[in-house]
Amino acid sequence: MASKAKAFLKRRARRTRATAGLRGLVRETSLTRGDLIVPLFVKEGREERRAIASMPGQFQFSVKRLAVEAKEIASRGLPAVLLFGIPASKDARGSGAWDRDGIIPQAVKAVKDSAPGLVVITDVCLCEYTDHGHCGIVKKGHGAWRIENDATLPLLARTASAHAAAGADIVAPSGMMDGAVGAIRAALPHAPILSYAAKYASSFYGPFRDAAESPPQFGDRSTYQMDPANSDEAMREIAQDLEEGADAIMLKPALAYLDIVRRARERFAVPLAAYNVSGEYSMLHAAGERGWIDARKAMLEVLTGIRRAGADLIVTYHAREVCDLIA
Ligand SMILES: [Zn+2]
Repeated sequence: MASKAKAFLKRRARRTRATAGLRGLVRETSLTRGDLIVPLFVKEGREERRAIASMPGQFQFSVKRLAVEAKEIASRGLPAVLLFGIPASKDARGSGAWDRDGIIPQAVKAVKDSAPGLVVITDVCLCEYTDHGHCGIVKKGHGAWRIENDATLPLLARTASAHAAAGADIVAPSGMMDGAVGAIRAALPHAPILSYAAKYASSFYGPFRDAAESPPQFGDRSTYQMDPANSDEAMREIAQDLEEGADAIMLKPALAYLDIVRRARERFAVPLAAYNVSGEYSMLHAAGERGWIDARKAMLEVLTGIRRAGADLIVTYHAREVCDLIA
């Protein structure tokens, strides 16, 4: 009994929690503006700014308005944006995606003009541009449909090339097609590739599909996005993308997959990003609006948790609102 009491006196964990100063000094995980990437939606057309109903505080911007937003984002010390384009018209092949005068090339140029120091990352996928909403070419046969992997690859390479030609700093293939990184790397030997290496078929993308106007018109994405039950497979996906020439990797979503973030961190010494997705954002806001949680505190806790799990970078819709709370 006596020896137990002694050990207890030697290790009082509360000693370093006594003041804010002490807590700050022994804090293990940092969260700064420099860790955050701001996802932005840009839509063709004249409407300057349109609120996204399922994502409070988020908007679709015109190219012109996007340039203003980008300048403001850069002035807050946020280092990077991730652009998603919504074209005026869609077709079966998603030809708007690789149009050199398309919405993303226009947006990249506008952001580069207004905020030259801001790193511009572009989402490389077809789903915002296809009338069926899938991330690849769709073939129907024998009464069933399938997403054609290999026929999609040259279209992704063309899309990434159009973005790079417009001045994108990083291209980010997100469609989970096998060989996408290799196809883009062959077309673009010098462009940094941030690969969505392990992207799960998740229900947490719901609000995003509203925002990007890209819900699949039939079926779902489970033949190309990952099964939420798998972890070893995520390690294989990451290893393959790095072998094909990816410079950095992204895991998506974040919160239900923090074990994957941790595993990837321990195994791969490359820049690692996690995407704090739309559903994660909107759930927090919805609960906050009802007074069920303190949304500002929860936001800090969530983002710190993603960093603690091992992410270097976080793509998050909270980026602008969290600026007031962090350095
Ligand atoms: Zn897609």
